[in-house]
Parts: sequence; structure tokens; C-alpha cells
Amino acid sequence: MPKIYLLDVTNRDGVQTAKLGLSKLEKTMTNIYLNEIGVFQSEFGFPTTKHESRYLKANLELAEMGVLKPIRLEGWIRAIVDDVELTFERVPGIKHLNLSISTSDQMIEGKFQGRKTKQDIINDMTSAVDAAWARGVESIGVNAEDASRTDLDYLVEFGLAAKEHKATRLRYCDTLGYDNPFTIYKTNKALAERVGLPIEQHCHGDLGMAVANSLAGAKGTIDGGQDAYINTTINGIGERAGNADLVTVILAVTKSKEFAERYQFGNKIKLSKAWKIAKFAEYAFGVPIPINQPGVGANAFAHESGIHADGVLKDPENYELYGFEELGRGDPIKVDTGREITAGEYSGISGFSHVMGKIRDISFESKAEANEVLELVRYANVLAHKPLVEDELLFIARYPQVAKKLLTLTPLVKP
Ligand SMILES: [Zn+2]
Repeated sequence: MPKIYLLDVTNRDGVQTAKLGLSKLEKTMTNIYLNEIGVFQSEFGFPTTKHESRYLKANLELAEMGVLKPIRLEGWIRAIVDDVELTFERVPGIKHLNLSISTSDQMIEGKFQGRKTKQDIINDMTSAVDAAWARGVESIGVNAEDASRTDLDYLVEFGLAAKEHKATRLRYCDTLGYDNPFTIYKTNKALAERVGLPIEQHCHGDLGMAVANSLAGAKGTIDGGQDAYINTTINGIGERAGNADLVTVILAVTKSKEFAERYQFGNKIKLSKAWKIAKFAEYAFGVPIPINQPGVGANAFAHESGIHADGVLKDPENYELYGFEELGRGDPIKVDTGREITAGEYSGISGFSHVMGKIRDISFESKAEANEVLELVRYANVLAHKPLVEDELLFIARYPQVAKKLLTLTPLVKP
């Protein structure tokens, strides 16, 4: 039986969202948390964008060191040969790519405005796939942007061309959130059957159905005989109304009625990391988790009305579909209500040592080492504009050489 895998796009779709962004250290922490929760692949950034180069290379180094393992790190580029060439100029060690190009008549006419025919789109894509293989990549996903508004026969033709050029997967992008569970089920099943490649579901929430569509698309793909790769973002953050939320997708796949009897994850997912990853994204993006967010919202396990409170106290299963402990919730949060010392961009060694002393298993070999880590923490603050979380401080203390690369931005010089 084919399986479901998670492919998270927070570090691509999430950070390209209007008004939102993450520092390179925050993007790195995101990859670390995604690895912990069991995400198969992180779309970790934009290899053709100059300011991403050091971050991407530093994360590939973390993968080599075994820190980011077994997660796959994959870059997003346009499906044109120029982007492939530039990718390998800037991030030579990259092993996984997703190549994206628009396939709908709307986009071909409205975006390319007569400069490209449908055949040109296929030719661009296959040339880019060939160029990427020639550079020694290990996997290639081909993204059909606006697939949900693309004529199915053309989408099949596009997918078959990708397959002929040995692409690993086809990404079905419901770029505008136009699908519903009934339509995406049908399309994804047809694509799995007629193209014969694993299909990625990339769903947006413009009509409030991103998670439902992801499940229906995955079901269609598996019924069509192929593995499904659901694209998620943490807290659903993404373009406009957002993407399919990572934690909700995990809950929906594993807890919804009858679904998990046939449709299961292909690797182990640690739901117990859900709370931690959601709270980190909330802090890093500066976007509060809605009170009624599934699993991680403040009200997800709150009961007040008489009948519900009485019922849940007698047996939680009366009014709760799953336990808060399963998501890693339940530990008290310690908040300093008196004096508070934080580490920031103008911190000194005394305040910094105090902060680090409160964190377990941190001790510096020498004053010089402490000073070096403090300097890196200052730079991290310059980029993030807020106190670092404990895991970020630990990361910098453990991997100062990698942190240095993440924090170095050198515009207007060759990479
Ligand atoms: Zn998207």
C-alpha cells in the first residue's frame, strides 16, 4: 500500500508570505524542529537568491554532521535551465530540488502573455530537469503551478514528460485554493493512475479547505497506486490565507474517522513535538496561534460549560478526540515576573553568562569561547530583533562555526 509523507514548505511558502519572514537562524531552527517531528523533506529555501546561499550551505553542512538527519533538504527554483545553473553556482552541494512552472491557461496567457506556448512550458521543464540531473542531484520534484486550474489532459502530458525525464515526483499545486475535496480527489487519482509518479498535494486555504483538500488529494493519489507527499507549513502560515497546517494535517491523517485504517504515514511522526514547533513558529513569525487552532490553540482543550466540563472530568474521551499530552502539551510555562535578564544585540558578558547559566548543560571552556558565543548571539539578535529562545542559544553554543555562517550576510560580492 502506498504511503503518505510530509513535505514542509514553511521555509519557502511561509517566508515568502507578505509582511512575514524568518531570520536565517530561525529558518535553521525550523529545519531542526521539522526533523524532530518526522517531516520527510523541508523545502528549505531559494538557492538562486543570493542572501540564502550561506544559510543553505550551512544547513547542508548540518546534514553532513548528522544534525539534520534523516530529513531531506530541498531547494525551490523555477523550472528553467538558468535557475538550475545559478543554483549550482551558489549552492553546489544541494541534492534535492523542486522545479516550478505555471501550467494553467490563465497563467500561460495572463503571466507569460504570449511569450510561451504550452509546448514551451514542457520544453523548459524537461530541459531544467535534464540540467539538474546532469549536476548530480538525487531527487527532483516537478511543480505544476496552478494545477487545479489546468486542463487535466495537459497536466497528464506535462507529468508524463516529467516522468520521461526521470523526475521523482509531480507537485499538484492548488495555488489559489480553488479545489474542494471532491475535485482534488478525482484529479489526483487520475494523475497517479495516468502519470504513474508519486504526487505532492500543495494546497492553500483561500476557501478554508487546505487540510481537507490535502487529505482528499492524498487519498486519491494512494487509491491511484502512488505515494502521496502532503505539503504543509507550521501554523498554516503561507501566501494569503495560508497553506495546510502541519499539526492539523498530522491530526487529520491519524485521528479522523476511518482514514488511518488505509492511509498511513510512511515514516514515524512524533506528534509529541507539535506544541514545541507551533510555539516556536508563533514566536519567530510573531503571529499568534488562533485560540481555536486544532491541537495547539489555547482553547483546544478548554472546557467551561457545565455539561462539557462535567463530561470531560468523568472521562476525557466524552469531549476530547485526543489527549493534550499526545501533542507535548501540559508542562507549566515558567515566566519571570520579577527581574529579567535577556541576551540581546548590546548584551555584555555578565548578563549573557547569567542567561546561559540558567540553561542546562552549558559551560564554556574559556572566557574567549564565551565571548565568541556572545558575539554570535548579538549578531543573531541584530537579525531577529527579539530575544533568542533557549534552543537558539544552545544551537549557537554548540555549533558556533555553523552559526557564524548563518549570521554572515555579505551583499554585493561574489558568493
Ligand atoms: Zn504555495
